[in-house]
Amino acid sequence: MRAPLIAGNWKMNGSLELVESFAETLSHTELPAGVELALMVPFPYLSVARARLPKAMAIGAQTLSDKSDGAYTGEVSGSMLSDLGMQMVLVGHSERRTLFGEDDAAVLARVQAALSAGLKPVLCLGETLEERDAEQTEAVVLGQLEAVMDALMPEQRRTLVLAYEPVWAIGTGRTATPEQAQQVHAAIRARLAQYDAGLAESMQILYGGSMKPDNAAELLAQADIDGGLIGGASLKVDDFLAICQSA
Ligand code: PEP
Repeated sequence: MRAPLIAGNWKMNGSLELVESFAETLSHTELPAGVELALMVPFPYLSVARARLPKAMAIGAQTLSDKSDGAYTGEVSGSMLSDLGMQMVLVGHSERRTLFGEDDAAVLARVQAALSAGLKPVLCLGETLEERDAEQTEAVVLGQLEAVMDALMPEQRRTLVLAYEPVWAIGTGRTATPEQAQQVHAAIRARLAQYDAGLAESMQILYGGSMKPDNAAELLAQADIDGGLIGGASLKVDDFLAICQSA
């Protein structure tokens, strides 16, 4: 069976003080058994987060370069993240797709860069409100999935985690209903089964989009929702822990 994974995404929020306060709280908190935990913090805090937060919690970055090294001022490579003990990296978050122009080809290149560096990519997929209203949700989400999966070898596919994040639910306070989310998760899993039945069974598919302590349990109870990617609520350790307890 798939272990639930709760992953926080601080985006460009937080501070050294916030890392320290998470470390302090988590040092005397029993983490829920059987739940995988991860926190994606801004680049400058990766090292200190890795050093201070519990080893049971994976630490990850929110993006990476598609290049391995060289004259790319301001970029951060996958091997640099691995060097710091990172295990995961978000790829294709909707904010990267829309604000930084990362198209499917750019997302694929970053997934490949992550895999080359031994990192687990958390591949984010999701439709805009216009696409949902035009009944394009599955076409868009499965298209984003195929743009990556089609180019990977079977053993590479098995390394990924997926996150379904409807763009209209991210940071808006408007959550997909459990039924809406489950419908898309089931469609993703059915598409995965066309690649390989074992892949469909084992792959964790997270839901993201205004998941909070008061709506997490019913989302996480859905058959094909294997965890959450949490933005705003991951900035408050009590909220993050409450979501982890619901998993
Ligand atoms: C996210 O950033 O991936 C996210 C889901 O944000 P929020 O929980 O704030 O909607």
